[in-house]
Amino acid sequence: MEDDERAGELPEAPVGLSARLEVMEQVVSCETCDLHKQCTAPVFGTIPEGGTKIAILGEAPGAQEDAQGAPFVGPAGQMIRKHLDGAGIDPESVAFVNTVSCFPHGTPEWDHIHACAKNREDQLSLSGATHVLCVGKVATKAIEPALDLKHGRGRPFLKYDRIHFSTYHPAAALRNGNYEEAMADDIRVFAELVKGDWLDFVKPTCAACPQDMYWMQESGLTWCLEHVPGDDFAKAQEWRQRQVAELAALREIADERKQDLIDRDTVVSGKRATSQKAAAKVFPRSGTKRRECYEIIKASGATGMTDLELEKQTGWKHESLSACRNSLMNDGLVFDSGRKRVVDGSERMIWVVEEFT
Ligand code: URA
Repeated sequence: MEDDERAGELPEAPVGLSARLEVMEQVVSCETCDLHKQCTAPVFGTIPEGGTKIAILGEAPGAQEDAQGAPFVGPAGQMIRKHLDGAGIDPESVAFVNTVSCFPHGTPEWDHIHACAKNREDQLSLSGATHVLCVGKVATKAIEPALDLKHGRGRPFLKYDRIHFSTYHPAAALRNGNYEEAMADDIRVFAELVKGDWLDFVKPTCAACPQDMYWMQESGLTWCLEHVPGDDFAKAQEWRQRQVAELAALREIADERKQDLIDRDTVVSGKRATSQKAAAKVFPRSGTKRRECYEIIKASGATGMTDLELEKQTGWKHESLSACRNSLMNDGLVFDSGRKRVVDGSERMIWVVEEFT
């Protein structure tokens, strides 16, 4: 093609613009479910040009949003904008997207949520958001059906390559001041987590009840034993068994060390302060696991021992052996030689006593 022919052409639309038009077209002409028949038109999200790190995911347009063709322009919108602003998030810089794009004249049902999932995800992708604040039960369950707001709000989790975080819907906050306070607190936490490492904000309690966590999914959601989601149950149990074994081994070592200290108290000095200072250097009594482990490593001389070799020689379980060897290391009786040896196909660290370091 010649240059003068080219001159008459429209410049190619930037990728962002053509993608925006494509998603907008998809949303506003959507007839995937029946909801489009009862609303003025599906409402396309407010997505800042140039993208954003943060998106607010709502439930569905209300009467005002339906009339104006934009999300979160009614009282609930004013409420959430006020609290975003209060937490240091400029509401003009974030995307507002709905779980369901049509005004449902009530609460949208699962069929509507499923039918609209592509619209929701395409708008979120278009926004470029890495962090999504899900407001209300519908938005929360659309992303993670296992999550309830009562215990599940205020905790980050990873889904569809984005970090999500749930809180109450601003419409609930308009009806009840307690919800408003809780929502404001959650938004402040969300504003912090957007700036930092989301894993620092994972809660050690169950996402479905007040109990302590038992299992953390890869998504970052934490559950007690009763609420571990079905797919993860076997993994959780295996993990728990290992943890229990490790704990038992540590307890055994702690008991041995306590006994070592008592012995030392009687033999070396009656004064507690003296014995405490000496505790770091306390040597394991014969007949204890720590002593056995130490003697094996010592006998191996400059060759040293790897954990796997120790496991094979002692016949102890991995958790018990590594807890024992760790405790000797912490007491300055066993050292990392800085060398490695291949045992059973993998490179493993070699442990030695001080004279061979
Ligand atoms: N509530 C929502 O969830 N979305 C809106 O757009 C307005 C109110």
